[in-house]
Amino acid sequence: MAYKITLVRGDGTGPELTEVTAKVIEATGVKIDWEVMEAGVDIMEKEGTPLPDKTLQSIAKNKIALKGPITTPIGTGFRSVNVAIRKELDLFTCLRPCKSYVGVKSRFSDIDLVVVRENTEDLYAGVEFAERTDEANKIIELSKGKIRPESSISIKSFSEFGCERIVRFAFDYAVKNNRKKVTAVAKANIMKCTDGMFYRVAREVAKDYEGKIEYEERLIDNMCMQLVQKPELYDVIVLPNLYGDILSDLCAGLVGGLGVAPGANLGKDCAVFEAVHGSAPKYKGLNKVNPMALILSGKMMLDYLGEFDAAKRLDKAVAEVVAEKKFVTYDLGGTAGTKEMGQAIIDRIKNS
Ligand code: NAD
Repeated sequence: MAYKITLVRGDGTGPELTEVTAKVIEATGVKIDWEVMEAGVDIMEKEGTPLPDKTLQSIAKNKIALKGPITTPIGTGFRSVNVAIRKELDLFTCLRPCKSYVGVKSRFSDIDLVVVRENTEDLYAGVEFAERTDEANKIIELSKGKIRPESSISIKSFSEFGCERIVRFAFDYAVKNNRKKVTAVAKANIMKCTDGMFYRVAREVAKDYEGKIEYEERLIDNMCMQLVQKPELYDVIVLPNLYGDILSDLCAGLVGGLGVAPGANLGKDCAVFEAVHGSAPKYKGLNKVNPMALILSGKMMLDYLGEFDAAKRLDKAVAEVVAEKKFVTYDLGGTAGTKEMGQAIIDRIKNS
């Protein structure tokens, strides 16, 4: 029987990337009945919302989606659709493996890191007050001189529940995937309440895995430097939302850039697979960007479905095409388009 999976095309380069990725996944022989849905700036013009209810309902019903990137206007305009999907469906884990592939140019050749980012709390909760509003003024008063008058305010909040479930996810992932160590990353020397709680909860959770998985802590600033100097020291890294967002891009840079970094947003029984990169709008419709990140997100989706053999064949095909360097996109030093690189991967899968 075919799996029913929502395909959110996204905007910018999203539609071309999702089209190629769906074909690559189908080439593995796994039967999928895609429910194609829209979200992003293009549908906003038509329906007045960048996230139509039917799109969210489709993901909630099918409990699994492959999603293209979606633009978020900076400063003004609608809030992030990506954040809304994660929040509405309580997809509390953002899982981002960063692995080196032969043929992908990078300063490092043997990276195998996994970033586990909390996805629903922190400054992303969207509790913000503009300068000179009553709410902002009340908080300024409560701060007793610590916040300057006429400041705008974004609130950072962590719950014990939220910290516990993300850290536990990281440890369970480490156990299931034969990993050795979990590193919790925050800035608890400065943010003693929020980040302090993240470490405190992480230490408690770590006790349940003593003897199986090593546990350590790093401050976020130090972690950034360590990762660009000695990435081999790290294994599974668990972080609150904002630090996780920033560190994911850093780790993508370690393995060759955004074009090769896949991801998954996971909840209790619902999952949305998407690349780390955004909609790269300047390349929209040019058949130019690298489909590898979304295709590898598709590989993660096949693993999630228990289609391990298909996932392995897909990964091998990607590795071979990238190593051969004949049909790769500009960011990997080639001249192939999105479609041609996808087709080369499909050909490899079919011949495997
Ligand atoms: P971006 O990731 O879209 O692109 C930054 C640059 O990275 C591009 O100009 C391009 O040079 C390179 N790049 C990205 N993806 C690539 C690919 N597949 N192949 C080759 N090169 C690639 O980041 P941005 O420009 O900061 O964001 C554009 C929009 O995407 C913004 O509105 C942002 O909010 C949104 N965004 C969405 C998601 C998501 O949908 N999950 C994630 C990040 C950013």
